[in-house]
This record gives sequence, structure tokens and C-alpha cells, in this order.
Amino acid sequence: MGSVDEREEALALAAQAHDVAWAADGTPWQRTLRAISGGKWGRQPTGWTVIRLNAPWQDTPSSERPGWRERAANLADDVAFAVDYTICGRCGLGWVEWPYTAEQFQRCGLATAGLKALRLEHPGLSWHTLGGHSQDSRAFWTAVGTDVLGRYRQRETCPHVPEG
Ligand SMILES: [Zn+2]
Repeated sequence: MGSVDEREEALALAAQAHDVAWAADGTPWQRTLRAISGGKWGRQPTGWTVIRLNAPWQDTPSSERPGWRERAANLADDVAFAVDYTICGRCGLGWVEWPYTAEQFQRCGLATAGLKALRLEHPGLSWHTLGGHSQDSRAFWTAVGTDVLGRYRQRETCPHVPEG
């Protein structure tokens, strides 16, 4: 559980979920973004570049799942929330996987706001997860899935998107 200040910042961050900086795939783009954003960059053992843009919320190529995107919220130079996602307009389906909230920012609405922003950006999709829901996460998915088409139920990817 974070300090009062940290929690207030996280609550403010959750309210900004519509304000997203985008990074496209591809090295030239990434170089440009690095130059203009002053974002922090690292390299993971997988060889995928991890991009941290200088923005409250960011949307970048997923470092874990080739072809997927990662939506993340930054706070105090660190990742407060992150989730991988992909969508298929043809099938009207969206998937999210591995939502992560830093411990000190939990229960500040970041995950709820982040998932909601994705739904608003892609209206009409049925939303799912790839993996099954662990005992621990069932209450979370039930809460965020209420009134959501698909309810984030487990579903395999369609043939049009990377498997993740
Ligand atoms: Zn599809």
C-alpha cells in the first residue's frame, strides 16, 4: 500500500487514461520517439525493446507478445500499470492479458481506467483473456467485466491476430 501522495497521484493518473502517447512498431519510429520523447529505454533479454515514453499513459509494441500492444501508465518514472492487448476488427474481438498494477498503486482504479480506455477506443468489441483466471484474479475480472461484452472470459485468439 503506497503513501497518501502516491495514491493521490495514482488516482489522478487513472482519470487521465484517455490521454495516451503512441509508439508505432518498427525501429525507425522507435528511434524518432526516443529522440523526441526523452523516454527511458531498456532492452529485455528477449531482445524486444521496452519503451517508456514521457507521458502519463502510453501505447507501445508489447515486449512480451510479438504483434500485440502494451497499454501502460507511468508514474514517478516507473510503470504503475500495464496490460498487453490485441484486437481483431474482423471478428469483433479483443483480448487483454496479464494486467499488472504496481503494489503501491493497487486499488486506485488504474486497471479499471486502462481497460475502459481500450474499450472506448475500440467500441463494439467482445473482450476476452487468453489464459484462465486464477483464484486470486477472479474477483478482479468479475468486477471489471460487469456490463462488458465478453466479460473478459477466456477465449483462444482468432486466426487473424498473433497468438501471444
Ligand atoms: Zn479475427
